[in-house]
Amino acid sequence: MTVEQVFDDHSATVRVRHDSLLNQLRDAVSSSMAHSANKVSASERNILDADAIDKLEQVENMARKLYLTVTAAEPFPTPEQNLRQWFIGFSNLHRSGKVSREVLGQKASRLRSVVTMIDDKLNPPESIEITSPCPRCEKLWVKTDEMSWCRAITVQSRIAVYGSLDNATATCRGCGATWIHGQGMRQLRWEIDESETRRNESPVEIEHDTDTLIGHRFTMPGNGE
Ligand SMILES: [Zn+2]
Repeated sequence: MTVEQVFDDHSATVRVRHDSLLNQLRDAVSSSMAHSANKVSASERNILDADAIDKLEQVENMARKLYLTVTAAEPFPTPEQNLRQWFIGFSNLHRSGKVSREVLGQKASRLRSVVTMIDDKLNPPESIEITSPCPRCEKLWVKTDEMSWCRAITVQSRIAVYGSLDNATATCRGCGATWIHGQGMRQLRWEIDESETRRNESPVEIEHDTDTLIGHRFTMPGNGE
């Protein structure tokens, strides 16, 4: 079962599917335990168990605490029930104007960080390097340390898991520009096309290719700057 929570108050919009992530996390805990009954080494088993169990406990605690912010009643046994009841109570408070923007923002970012925490564990994002230069700062390569370079723009997405670009994020390490979600990815594509059209008509292309060649040179081990 999936519960979708949406808060929208100009300052914060959050969509959270707690149940499915919680069930997945629970599956991770129980499968690592079933696994450990077989022939996984003790050290591997401990790592698997401890991490998933720890995260599940964090979510259970959070759900219980949230629930107690809207009622004095005894919490329910499952985090799903606590979250659902909290959400109903919180939504009512919000509707009647008893939730400040600050509190709404705090709850939204707390929920989002928990979703990200579980998602990062269960569905680690794939990282894709974009082979075009950043349309904003024109950088194609940026230095990661003394010797190595990487592409300026990297896209983090879970497209294989979700089949969509929701929550995909593209970031330029050169200028810090970011593009998010499907709309952002389309915007980035458009900006790159525009930028390439401009570059093909100007000496910037030559400068860029020279920079790129020099960038390559610095990726060779043993070459300093
Ligand atoms: Zn940039």
